[in-house]
Amino acid sequence: MKNFIDRLYSRPVIDFCLFSLAGAIILAVFSIVPRLKLGADIRSVTSYLYPSVYGSIAGGLLGIWSGRLRRSLHAQTSMQERYHDLFENASDLIQSVALDGRLLFVNRAWRETLGYSDSEIAALNIFDVISPDDHHHCRQRFESLIAGGIVNSAEVTFLRKDGCPMLLEGNVSLRFENDQPHSIRAIYRDISERKAAEDKIHQLAYYDKLTGLPNRTLLQDRLVHAIADTKRFDHHLGVVFIDLDHFKKVNDTLGHHIGDLLLQEVAQRLSSSFRENDTVARLGGDEFIIVLSGYRNSFNVPHIAQKILKTIGQPCAIEGHELVLSGSVGIAIYPQDGANAADLLRNADMAMYAAKSEKGDSFQFYSESMNRNAVEQLELENGLRHAIENEQLFICYQSQIDLETKKVVGVEALLRWNHPELGLILPDKFIAVAEETGLIISIGEWVLRRACREIVQLQTELGIELSLSVNLSGIQLEQPNLVEVILNALQESGLPSEQLELEITESVLVERTDQALNLLHKISSLGVRIAIDDFGTGYSSLNYLKNFPIDRLKIDRSFLVDILHEPDNAAIVETIIAMSRNMGLHVIAEGVETHDQAVFLSDRNCSQMQGFLFSKPVVPSQIKVSSEQANKLVE
Ligand code: C2E
Ligand code: MG
Ligand code: MG
Repeated sequence: MKNFIDRLYSRPVIDFCLFSLAGAIILAVFSIVPRLKLGADIRSVTSYLYPSVYGSIAGGLLGIWSGRLRRSLHAQTSMQERYHDLFENASDLIQSVALDGRLLFVNRAWRETLGYSDSEIAALNIFDVISPDDHHHCRQRFESLIAGGIVNSAEVTFLRKDGCPMLLEGNVSLRFENDQPHSIRAIYRDISERKAAEDKIHQLAYYDKLTGLPNRTLLQDRLVHAIADTKRFDHHLGVVFIDLDHFKKVNDTLGHHIGDLLLQEVAQRLSSSFRENDTVARLGGDEFIIVLSGYRNSFNVPHIAQKILKTIGQPCAIEGHELVLSGSVGIAIYPQDGANAADLLRNADMAMYAAKSEKGDSFQFYSESMNRNAVEQLELENGLRHAIENEQLFICYQSQIDLETKKVVGVEALLRWNHPELGLILPDKFIAVAEETGLIISIGEWVLRRACREIVQLQTELGIELSLSVNLSGIQLEQPNLVEVILNALQESGLPSEQLELEITESVLVERTDQALNLLHKISSLGVRIAIDDFGTGYSSLNYLKNFPIDRLKIDRSFLVDILHEPDNAAIVETIIAMSRNMGLHVIAEGVETHDQAVFLSDRNCSQMQGFLFSKPVVPSQIKVSSEQANKLVE
């Protein structure tokens, strides 16, 4: 019954009744009034009955139609109000941003959470609110969206008006108008708390509570990754196991509190003396592990092991106690001492036990051959420390000739070490040691000064002009006073700066620091030329050739091997020559040993060469004979 009454009184019925009544009355009146005026008899029912019926039907229909229209308008407005209400009161941060970054509109949660007023928001660009660290990837995301890409869930750090960062997570979408991208909408949630909780859980699961170092679980993970990277990039990797000697005594005599502080001190010292690539972890107790990874060229593990022993052996002052510790160190090298993480850890552990059972305060390699190498390496290191003052270093010079002018145009200075017991040692064996120990700084300076002096003397003796190429280590480029060292060497000797060329390897440019870059530009502005040595063996990138002050490329000798029968090598050499010509760089090939190689190169417009075919590296007194021989050969 109630339903029936509801339906009866529902809007369309009322609209129909009211409008049909009104229609009937209006038409009845309109049909009666003219008749009355004409004096007609209005008692005749037909005179107003028919018009009223028509009026009632038309009015009823009009009523239904107007009721519908009214109801639909009303529904639209209330829908808009509800949406606006929903948008304004949503707890998520909602924003719409124009394609140029202007904020078009934001909701209340956005304004209140980030602390900006309406008038401030009108003047804001979205990048004023995003943390500068995130600008780059946010721009990329914007561009990708506009280009038709899909951005799923995105994390971004916003800065509140008071400067506090807030980590937000949300969805971003592109809005179109007239089929054109119009604006970017995003709905974000504050996930700072969730992130903090996750970080806490991560910290508890992967880090040691006492020292804050990675624990065994994280160590395993890092080691597995390091092994994979080592395989992929052909790097070196070592696992160093450290156990403190007699640590139990500290705990037993001074108590666990002092023991804990001591472990924290050791952890701090170890982690601050290694590179970011290396992992310093605590296994528990007094056991630490260091994973040495990502080493490209020089990998002087004995030196590193000694450094660890020295670091641990520094006296510690803890709550009034002066303590001196020592450690036992075991080392396993990938892949010879273990192909996986478990084997490497076990073998480094065994090596550590060998070191401890021998005498403690020492290190031991897992394999015997490595032990022998380690001893040799240390001998080299100790010997090298005194090589300059004991006058055991000397320089050989190798001629560089130009087949076009048929002349010796310059020489490369190549360092030699006359070891009292081991005899002549070539740089490949000791430059890495010098770099690892930092001795390369003084050795490099010595080479530069000595070579400039010797070349000036030779020029006067021979009456010809020679340019001098000197090899520079990447470590020297990290020395702020390098420019001074070069200037001194030039001034002392009187060699014009244009006659000096410094050879650096590609890796120096790839791993460039701003300081190294600055130095290169300063060196170049002195007039000194810069060459890339062993070109093609590193990360040959057109980018650095374009951006750095480089004058010459030296094609690595490995590409000349079998060049007539190895199409790949021939193609590489041809490409390097063509590329240098296009970029306006000089090019020289090193390691030319045969007549065929020389012909191949000169046929391809590479006229400058260096190699045993023309001359071996010789001491200054033999340069005259050697360059005469080279000259004869090219005539
Ligand atoms: P590098 O600068 O690429 O020098 C060329 C090397 O190739 C020299 O080896 C040279 O003797 C050798 N070589 C030249 N022509 C031929 C040839 O036709 N066939 C073959 N098989 N080899 C040839 P060296 O003198 O043993 O020097 C090796 C590397 O040691 C040098 O490579 C350079 O990177 C480094 N080095 C030498 N002296 C210094 C120095 O004073 N400072 C620094 N930082 N590194 C140096
Ligand atoms: Mg060189
Ligand atoms: Mg070279």
